[in-house]
Amino acid sequence: NETSATLRARAEVDLDALRGNVRTLRARAGGAALMAVVKSDAYGHGMLPVARAAREAGATWLGTATPHEALALRAAGVPGRIMCWLWTPGDPWREGVEADLDMSVSALWALREVTAAARAAGRPARIHLKADTGLGRNGCQPADWPELVAAALAAEAAGEATVTGLWSHFACADEPGHPSIAAQLDLFHEMVTHAEKEGVRPEVRHIANSAAALTVPASHFDLVRAGIATYGISPSPEIGTSRDLGLRPVMTLAASVALVKRVPGGHGVGYGHQYRTPHATTLGLIPLGYADGVPRHASGRGPVLVDGVRRRVAGRVAMDQFVVDLAGDTPEEGARAVLFGPGDHGEPTAQDWAEAADTIAYEIVTRIGSRVPRVHL
Ligand code: PLP
Repeated sequence: NETSATLRARAEVDLDALRGNVRTLRARAGGAALMAVVKSDAYGHGMLPVARAAREAGATWLGTATPHEALALRAAGVPGRIMCWLWTPGDPWREGVEADLDMSVSALWALREVTAAARAAGRPARIHLKADTGLGRNGCQPADWPELVAAALAAEAAGEATVTGLWSHFACADEPGHPSIAAQLDLFHEMVTHAEKEGVRPEVRHIANSAAALTVPASHFDLVRAGIATYGISPSPEIGTSRDLGLRPVMTLAASVALVKRVPGGHGVGYGHQYRTPHATTLGLIPLGYADGVPRHASGRGPVLVDGVRRRVAGRVAMDQFVVDLAGDTPEEGARAVLFGPGDHGEPTAQDWAEAADTIAYEIVTRIGSRVPRVHL
């Protein structure tokens, strides 16, 4: 049942911390509005409770990648502005129009689909034209921009679309001072100016993610789109720690110790015997594995606070469990093991796990598996 599942392992989500982060980001954004990015189940934190808490704290916009995520918010009764940006042919454009979503358009094929949906729905679609100012991912190339802008204006004239936004996304905002930041800003200004000269009257122009929201005031425009910082995690150690930025990590990943036992020296631990006890010791079993998002790549390295003492993963992380060397201590089964949290009670942070697994903290929180109950506090 749900309670026992929660006892064995859980991702505790501190919604007060999340609301505090949203307020901090709003203050940092100056006059710009704030979009809380809640894609990918709110970076693993649980989309609906996060969306509601973010709104309470003043995030007027919500952002998702897929239209399905945005439609799920609407289906749950979340009102207000919701933007989604990653469209694929065959996606539910008409449902998007009918649900009053703000929909990104990067290319003519998408404009054709969204205007057809608008005709079918009998109302204009709200669209944000996306410029590729240098990320080289989604978005319209500068050479193709005039054609996309002209087609969007024609769709507006036909009552099939309203261009509510002009937008782009940074490649290297998490590397302060990277020359591409200024280059992307310059190009964004040019592409926005062209569109406005042609007659586009966007309600919002936006390019900043968390890193830019925190470090590049010139990137704020009318709206900043904050994902990782909403969850209290710094976009990169180069920008500072969460604490430096006035943010508080929202998720704590905790489990109950499943077994404590004594073993002799020289005992192999886990698959491949990657760890061997240096001498007689005690081992603790933690019931979380790579299927739960504990990175196997952090085998032998991942830090854990067990019963208040800092330990490391001993040997390989398995699918459902891993072992820590308790160095002779004998906490009770059921003792609390914290893989990561805000970091102010000796526990590691998601950033510590990112370093142990050669990845970024985004991946640590986002990959926490569906078997781990989210407990919203
Ligand atoms: N905007 C877009 C288009 C994104 O894809 C993302 C997430 O990757 C964000 C904003 C939020 O980025 P961050 O989590 O770095 O704030």
